[in-house]
Amino acid sequence: MALLLAAACRPGPAPASVAPAVPRTVVLVSLDGFRADYLDRPGAVRLRALAARGVRAQRMIPAFPSKTFPAHFTVITGLHPEHHGLVANTMVDPAIGTTFTIGDTLVARDPRWWQGEPLWITAERQGVRTASFYWPGSDYEVAGGRPTDYRPYDGRVPNAARVRQVLEWLARPAATAPRFVMLYFSTTDDAGHAHGPEAPQVDTAIAQVDSLVGMLEDGIAALGATERVVLVVVADHGMTAISADRVIYLDDYLDLSTMRVIDWMPVTGLAPRAGEEDAVVARLRGAHPHLAVYRRDAVPARFHYRAHPRIPPVVLIADEGWTISSHDRVKLMGPPRGGTHGYDNQLPSMGALFVAAGPGVARGRVLPPFGSVHVYPLLAHLLGIRPARTDGSLDSVRAALRGPIDVFHRTQRRDGDPGGIFRDR
Ligand code: AMP
Ligand code: ZN
Ligand code: ZN
Repeated sequence: MALLLAAACRPGPAPASVAPAVPRTVVLVSLDGFRADYLDRPGAVRLRALAARGVRAQRMIPAFPSKTFPAHFTVITGLHPEHHGLVANTMVDPAIGTTFTIGDTLVARDPRWWQGEPLWITAERQGVRTASFYWPGSDYEVAGGRPTDYRPYDGRVPNAARVRQVLEWLARPAATAPRFVMLYFSTTDDAGHAHGPEAPQVDTAIAQVDSLVGMLEDGIAALGATERVVLVVVADHGMTAISADRVIYLDDYLDLSTMRVIDWMPVTGLAPRAGEEDAVVARLRGAHPHLAVYRRDAVPARFHYRAHPRIPPVVLIADEGWTISSHDRVKLMGPPRGGTHGYDNQLPSMGALFVAAGPGVARGRVLPPFGSVHVYPLLAHLLGIRPARTDGSLDSVRAALRGPIDVFHRTQRRDGDPGGIFRDR
């Protein structure tokens, strides 16, 4: 019905059909911190095989800042952090009055933090059941709902148990099985932080998550569902090495007791006393050759990091591999070692994995780098549902697809075509 209405409103030839003959199921797997080039490391055997029967991106460009919560919520809403509100893993909102951190579930469950429409809500509203074995936000009430099935985040739950539960969900009768499923493992991020991206421990982590993807794929095959399940494996960001030799001590330039440091690394948010913002920027500008310093309204446009009141008044961005800290903080936490992420999202080292295969997906193609805002429209298309307005567009990732693009997706950007036929939020 919706399709007929939409088609009737639009002049021109009749659109290609939206829904595939057999409704597809989409399983979206996030391998936290799986840098795009890890796909070519020895352990990524099943992932490379998946890419060979589908597509892989040279790299997916994550949200800025390239941190877990902002980046995951961009993938699942198609919005830049300045539009979905998860502007950092740690943030304050003048209107809410509390500090959001990813571990503080009492604060984080306040739905005001989570703006925009995650794909699980888009799907549920259109009668498509969804299930999540972890995705940031999916265990809270967000945008007025939740996935039909979800689990409160607990990083101690063994990864294989997560896969087994997902397979149980997929094995349900068609009437109750979810058609959109999310799954998450932190293994590669944990190893990258602890040891740095080039370490042998990261090779072990790559092999572990690779075999979990293999277990999932084999389980789907055992259900006889390979022909109707699209498997999409992404990361939220990459990883780069940090070092005790590359530290920017903010207290060498500023009296930190006169301001609030909202978040530290590698994008630091400062909230100086009212009226002192320009003085702080002037003091820091040029202070260190590996530190970029901006007032919020002057952050370079390509970061899409200005429009939200949760973005701190002064934003500092470290060059790749540098750590912004203070002498006290280094004493407390020890000198930087291992790896981290959060830097300029265009850096190859921040580039994230993207691999997809299954019905509707092209075969054997390597996609040029694309932004993670385009994943939401891609998944909505594969599910045959109408997307909300986003910052992404299906056109940007149409090379990932086999077959025609439906009418709902021809134009859907938030900033374009006000007379378009996409659904408003
Ligand atoms: P980051 O500090 O950006 O590296 O965040 C990675 C960490 O985020 C993981 O190691 C988990 O501890 C945490 N995390 C990932 N997903 C969730 C979630 N859905 N809820 C709470 N914490 C999460
Ligand atoms: Zn992450
Ligand atoms: Zn991390």
